[in-house]
Order: sequence, then C-alpha cells, then structure tokens
Amino acid sequence: MSQIPSAGSTLYDSDVFRMACRQFDHAADLIGIDPDLRERLKLPKRCVTVTVPVRHDDGHVRVYEGYRVQHHLTLGPTKGGVRFHPHVTIGEVAALAMWMSWKCALAGLPYGGAKGGVAVDPRALSVRELEAVSRRYMQELIPFVGPNIDVPAPDMGTNEQVMAWMMDTYSNQVGNSVPAVVTGKPISVGGSEGRREATGRGAAYLIKRQLEAMGIAPGEATAVIQGFGNVGSEAALALREYGVRVVAISDVGGGHHNPRGIDLDAALAHVAAHRSLAGWRGGDALTNEELLELPCTVLVPAAMERVIMPANARRLRCRVLAEAANGPTTNDADVILAERGDVEIIPDILCNVGGVVVSYFEWVQDLQSLFWTRTEVLAKLCSILDRASDAVEAQRARLGCSRRLAALTLGIGRVAEAKTARGLFP
Ligand code: NAD
Repeated sequence: MSQIPSAGSTLYDSDVFRMACRQFDHAADLIGIDPDLRERLKLPKRCVTVTVPVRHDDGHVRVYEGYRVQHHLTLGPTKGGVRFHPHVTIGEVAALAMWMSWKCALAGLPYGGAKGGVAVDPRALSVRELEAVSRRYMQELIPFVGPNIDVPAPDMGTNEQVMAWMMDTYSNQVGNSVPAVVTGKPISVGGSEGRREATGRGAAYLIKRQLEAMGIAPGEATAVIQGFGNVGSEAALALREYGVRVVAISDVGGGHHNPRGIDLDAALAHVAAHRSLAGWRGGDALTNEELLELPCTVLVPAAMERVIMPANARRLRCRVLAEAANGPTTNDADVILAERGDVEIIPDILCNVGGVVVSYFEWVQDLQSLFWTRTEVLAKLCSILDRASDAVEAQRARLGCSRRLAALTLGIGRVAEAKTARGLFP
C-alpha cells in the first residue's frame, strides 16, 4: 500500500488521499520520476482551513469547517471546484486537488490543481443560509484566492448562483468587479456560454468516441447514470442527442430504471421542483448499488468517489465505464476490472476534463472582456478533448498500460518537466 509522503503529517490521511497517492506512485514508477521530485509533486503546496460561522433562520449561529487545498503552483494559478457536502474532509479535498493538477496538465492548461469544500449539507439550508455560507467562506479565503492566485469553480453541492455570490463578495472587498476570480458563474456576470453543460457534454463526447472505436452505433447503446446533478443530467441530455438510450438515473434519493428509456425532461422538471428525484415515478425504483450493476453499454458514475469497489467490480455489466465523477473506482476495483479485461474505462481525469477546459475559457474571456459564442466554445472544447484523448491512446500504446495510467503519466510527466525546468528555489 502507498505511504503518505514522509514530509507530510497525517493531515490528509484518508482512504481517498491514499488512493490518489497510490495512483501517483504507480504512474511515477512507470515513467521513472526522479526520487527527488516525487514528494514535491505529490504533496499539496498549501492548505487553508477556515471556520464559517453562519446565523441560521432560527436565530442560532452554527460554525462550519471549510478547506482550500492548492496542490502545485508551477504552471500558473491553481484551479478547482468548491464542494458543499456534509462529509467533506481535508483529505478528500487534497485528493481532489491532486487529481485536478494531473487533469489540467493533461489538457495543457496553465494551471495547478486546487479544490475546496465546506462540511455542510446544502440541501438542509434555506437560500439565505446558503448565501451566507458561500459569502463567508469566500470572505475567509480572500487573501488566498484571485485571478492570478487560485480560481474556484462549482463542484458537488455548489452551482452558478453560489459562484455569483462568491464573485460579488470578492469584488466588494477589492472595490471593483473581478469576474475572473471564479468560473462557472451565470452568463450575466461574466460566465461563459457552454460552461454549465461542459463537464457532462464533454464526458458524452468522449463516450461517443469510445463507442465509435468499439464499432458500436450510439443508437444501439444504452446508458446508466449515477448522479443527476449538473454533470449527470448534462451527460444524459448530450447522450440522448447522440441517440444513446438512457435507461436508468439516480441521485442521493435513489434510482429509477426504465428499459424503454427514461423521460429526462420529466426527471429534470421533478428535480427543479423538489431538489431531488425522490418521489418521482418515472421507472422502477432501485437503490444506487443495484443501479451500478444494471446491464448497459455505458455506465456513468457522476456523483461520489469510491462507489465501484472490489465487492461490485466483478458484477458490473457495462462495456464502457465513463468516470464523470472524480475517483469513482477504487484502486482494488481497478485491478479487478483490468483482470476482467471486458470493460473499457474512460478515466476521470480525462472523462470530466471538459469542465475545467471551459472554466479556463471563461477565465480567459473574463481577463480579456471579450466573449465567445456557444458554437465557438464547444468547437474549442471538442478540439482539446480530441487532442487529450488521442494523446492518452498514444501513451497507452507506447507504455502498454491502462488508459488511467496513460492519462496520469501524461499529466504527472508534464508537471515534472515544468518543475525541473524551473529548478528548486533557493
Ligand atoms: P451536483 O451537486 O450538481 O450533483 C451531484 C449529484 O449526485 C446529485 O444528483 C446528488 O443527489 C447525487 N448524489 C450525491 N450523493 C450521492 C450518493 N451517495 N449516491 C448517489 N447519488 C448521489 O454535483 P456535480 O457538479 O454534478 O458533480 C458530480 C461529480 O462530478 C463529482 O464527483 C464532481 O467532483 C465531479 N465533477 C464536477 C465538475 C463540474 O463542473 N461540476 C467537473 C468535474 C468533475
């Protein structure tokens, strides 16, 4: 098992951070990363913890813990989402920041990885309380973020509205409007066309490419999607556009299966009205665990990390596993899937890279105050996805390794090269 880096304390120790470290170690071994570089590459450069006190509607004040981890500063500002979820820990945030680093480098973006989070259940908050958490978290981070320092974005439990409040809080502090401080904002305050759908649509585009490579027509393919938030629902809509039949969806409230095809518009309307799929009658009800084992062409985990474990890896009945979520497959499950050899994996740092690519476009547009059309954004996105995907296939052939290791070695190798070129200060 991978060790937590020696220079680190147990600060980040958690299943998910160990998982990210072990992936790093495999990739670094494969491309022979210099031992002197390994800890510098692996350990996060900075982490900030904050307390977020918020007065609730009932008059009481509650204090939530928040984090921001900036993984490396070698290629430019850091970039990554902010997660509001009751189980957020600093170890999880650090692992997600590490994956962001390799993802940005894989796509050729001038960023290091970052991630943030607040241990809070946003579904239990009123709109006013959610605004207070969002603004106070950003207020605490003001010395540590900025367009040239660290640029947050949405992740699980946060959305365009949360980004607008964060942008407004930062802008009020500095005295002028600073749209480039966060991405994933509403278009009215400097957001980009195409950003909302970028992650899910990007994943669907890569799925289409994979089906083509396997000689499967989209019209003959079915998809099962876990998670029906931003990423899962946008992936479902884009897959439907390509002709793929989405036969099951789920969210935290459970799953729905309809072999004839899920009515996605009705599901979206239900979520808009009730904040979840709970109570919807669009198919046979099933648990999230059962959903993962449904027979389908493409399985798309688009919710949490570590949902494909040794216990269910042998029972998956998909041809393609498209990791729209970050870290959905544990390392041990990965080994089982490799032994099986009948499931093609589109690894997370490639599969969901569309989100940060269009976040990068948003940041560039904000800095230039020059905005692109949706057609331009999506065309540029597809060309970066094609380039990243082709590079992964070439690396895989060169090293004779899995698609995951190919993607990781490309990302890690590029950061290692930049660190070597810049040298070690002092
Ligand atoms: P979201 O909050 O919009 O949606 C999350 C969905 O997952 C919701 O439907 C929620 O009900 C569901 N969910 C939560 N816990 C669950 C559980 N235990 N079982 C089943 N479903 C559960 O979040 P999102 O932005 O769509 O993010 C989803 C995943 O995609 C995360 O892993 C995130 O890190 C990753 N991701 C997001 C982006 C982005 O641009 N938003 C970019 C890259 C990766």
